[in-house]
This record gives sequence, structure tokens and C-alpha cells, in this order.
Amino acid sequence: MNGCIFCKIIKREIPAGIVYEDASVIAIRDINPQAPVHVLLMPKKHIDDILGFGDEDSGLLSAIISAIGIIAEKTGIRQNGFRVISNCGKAAGQSVRHVHFHILGGSLFGERII
Ligand code: 5GP
Ligand code: ZN
Repeated sequence: MNGCIFCKIIKREIPAGIVYEDASVIAIRDINPQAPVHVLLMPKKHIDDILGFGDEDSGLLSAIISAIGIIAEKTGIRQNGFRVISNCGKAAGQSVRHVHFHILGGSLFGERII
């Protein structure tokens, strides 16, 4: 999608630290990490947010769940545990309108809101 920063990363027009990639998803290091491990996992296909997945995306959703496990293993956070978050829309503070999952780990999370 024109003007989408994550689509530009996917097309290699902007550099990023790629942690994992397959035919349908890509995972990059967050540019402003909020934990020792902070990876952004996203579909290569542009979808605005988590509400944009449709019935046709069941294979893609399965690929996302599989990739979470692979990335957790690769980044060394699988055993101790980690958190996965997807901000959706304004109230959640979603700043990039290309759906993505924050994978956060490498430290203990003290405060929880949920
Ligand atoms: P959101 O606020 O939409 O949930 O998360 C967007 C995330 O993308 C933020 O954590 C931000 O640091 C990250 N981000 C924004 N622009 C870039 C970029 O150009 N490269 C990378 N690697 N991360 C980015
Ligand atoms: Zn995009």
C-alpha cells in the first residue's frame, strides 16, 4: 500500500533488522524497543488492523501463530515466556496502520493491565 512504512520495509525500500521471513509473513526488530527483545510480526499483505482479517485469511493467521513460536525460539525468549500485543485503532494508540503483533520478552513484566 502506498505510503505504508511497513509495506516499504517488506519491499526492501527501507532497511530493517529482519528476524524471520516466509512466504506470507515477516518479522523485524522494533526501531524503538520497549523490552530486550521487541519484534514486530506482520503479514506481507497489507491489512490495516486486526479487524481486517477475513475468512480468506485462515492460512495467514495460522502462519502468524506458527511464526510466533519460531521467533520466540530464535530470539531466546521461548523458555522464560513473552508477551504478544496487537494495538487496534486510536484508543489503543496504533501508530502504524499495517497490522502487526508486538512480541516482547527478555525481561520480567511487572505491571499488567490485563
Ligand atoms: P503501534 O504503535 O502501531 O502498535 O506500533 C508501531 C511500532 O512500529 C512502534 O513500536 C514503532 O517503534 C515501530 N516502528 C515505527 N516505524 C518503524 C520503522 O521504520 N522500522 C521499525 N523497525 N520499526 C518501526
Ligand atoms: Zn502496509
